[in-house]
Amino acid sequence: MNTNIVNIFDQVAKDNSTRVAYDEMGKQTSYGDLKKNTESLAAWLNEQGLTSQSPILVFGDHQVEMITSFLAALKAGHPYIPVSTDSAIPRIQSILDTAKPELIIAVDNFPSEQLQFDAQVVSKEQLASVLATAREFVPGNPVSGDELAYVLFTSGTTGSPKGVEVSHDNFKTFVDWVLDSNFNIPEHANFLGQPPYSFDLSNMYWLPALLSGGTIKAIPHSVVENFGQLFTALPTLDLNVFVGTPSFADMLMLSPAFNEEKMPGLKIFMFCGEELTVKTAKALQQRFPHARIFNTYGPTETTVAISGIEITPEIVANNDRLPVGYAKPGVELSIWDGDKQLTEPGQQGEIIISGNSVARGYMNNPEKTAKAFFEFNGEPAYRTGDAGTLDADGLLHHKGRMDFQIKLHGFRVELDEVRASLEKSPLIKQAVAAPKYNKNGQVAHLIAYVIPQDNDKDQAELTKEIRESLKGLIMPYMMPTQFIYRDSFPMSANGKIAVKQLIKEANQ
Ligand code: AMP
Repeated sequence: MNTNIVNIFDQVAKDNSTRVAYDEMGKQTSYGDLKKNTESLAAWLNEQGLTSQSPILVFGDHQVEMITSFLAALKAGHPYIPVSTDSAIPRIQSILDTAKPELIIAVDNFPSEQLQFDAQVVSKEQLASVLATAREFVPGNPVSGDELAYVLFTSGTTGSPKGVEVSHDNFKTFVDWVLDSNFNIPEHANFLGQPPYSFDLSNMYWLPALLSGGTIKAIPHSVVENFGQLFTALPTLDLNVFVGTPSFADMLMLSPAFNEEKMPGLKIFMFCGEELTVKTAKALQQRFPHARIFNTYGPTETTVAISGIEITPEIVANNDRLPVGYAKPGVELSIWDGDKQLTEPGQQGEIIISGNSVARGYMNNPEKTAKAFFEFNGEPAYRTGDAGTLDADGLLHHKGRMDFQIKLHGFRVELDEVRASLEKSPLIKQAVAAPKYNKNGQVAHLIAYVIPQDNDKDQAELTKEIRESLKGLIMPYMMPTQFIYRDSFPMSANGKIAVKQLIKEANQ
């Protein structure tokens, strides 16, 4: 049996050589060509005299050369570091300083002149010529076992980005779970390829697609940014599997054409990365009554996602906030109280994840690694900084980030819970709750940022009606004192609502 992702890919590629593996807005690459290209590039990499297992930085957007480079790096025994073209220069510099790659594959133009580093840059043109020259590849030592498969740099909204070191086996057990468990992903499915490769959510589509003979329908960043193009393209893609954040689904639902009638093949929705709200799940169930919706949860440090559950209409009807699922095989979930003691079922605390999904640590950062990674019952473990509860049957509920827990006039308040309560109002489409701090650093009051449902009211009237609509639905001490209306919320590069940015705005 094949136990290495590279070998499994090769076998799938052999069995499906004429099938389309990658389709970037009509530019198609077959499995046969993808395999040939990964071999040419891997053979060329082997000739470069790189230090064994040294990481290769891959810079680009959603081009097929991105995954060609990832697979070639793995084949040649090197982990890859995906970096998005639209990354800010200080972020790229910080990644270069931490990872010190010897080789950079520039699928898009690399801004070398603005950066300081000591590495060979393979330009776009050079890459094209390497791929155009068939080289014989002698399979050697692909990345395997505990060796690193990729290093993913966190978004670094606070402080500099940290490079999460994910091993081959971390990655393999994750993909096994996605393909073998109850997600019921069929062979040869068309996957929406939207999350950028620098966001670990992309691992939920690209490798599962390629190890099941599917097709990645990649959408470049420029199209995601252009609603007109995006909404025109989507119904033409014949999608079967959606992988993305709830915020991205909310954005797609701005298009009336995002529904079952126009996209009858779309049968599976896989969410991760931020809270899937009751509102989004309900709206989606109305648009796609026959699709199956899965909520999954996990930080990058535990390899994409470690829990999952199907969100049925019954679950939506019976929960104010949706559960994030049961642990994947090989993973144990625990909840710690403030004294690092295990809690009773149902009691809230910090979510601790242990087992075969926990990454090795943060690259070249022993202090940050020691703070978050440890050993628990003989297994590698990670402190998530997320608040949650675990039911007696092992069902996990995510309650928000611990650092989004505030004290307001003595009450402990979870900002995500305020948001969830606000969204119970029929007048509110989406909300974010932000604390407003006084000069002593205490929370003076709460501000609600609100995207309202369509209405013709002035703001004072709307606020009054929202307050009335929330009576009995929100704890009185959680009611924000100020409402600010928006047409949309700022988004992070990973397609999540940029809550920290709104909190910053609230306090400027
Ligand atoms: P990242 O490392 O960028 O994938 O972010 C991980 C964080 O996103 C987690 O620690 C959670 O705070 C949040 N998150 C991920 N999945 C979910 C989910 N299904 N529900 C709520 N929050 C989530």
